[in-house]
Amino acid sequence: MKPWQKDQLRRALERRHESLLDELKRDAARLREERSGERTDVTAELDQAELSRDQHEVRDIEAAQRRLEDGTYGICTDCGIDIDFERLHAEPGAGRCFDCQRRHEKTYRR
Ligand SMILES: [Zn+2]
Repeated sequence: MKPWQKDQLRRALERRHESLLDELKRDAARLREERSGERTDVTAELDQAELSRDQHEVRDIEAAQRRLEDGTYGICTDCGIDIDFERLHAEPGAGRCFDCQRRHEKTYRR
């Protein structure tokens, strides 16, 4: 990976991380507020699902930032090939190449 690509992705990770944390803070505040009011279980479950998806992504981003520091960023954690820059650009927290991600989703349905 070229240095400018790495810089670009590092900034993308930071921005995504920040906006996710903002979202999580807002969601948590909203959940606290709404818990005192009346609401249906379905809405609560949807909120919960969204919350855990965001938390998951925060963890992915933080793992990617650590990989960026130790020099293993952009290398597929499953098969070891370089992940396409286009893929990283679209999803900077990605830890797997396209093929391995597809295989993973089929297996774990994440
Ligand atoms: Zn792979």
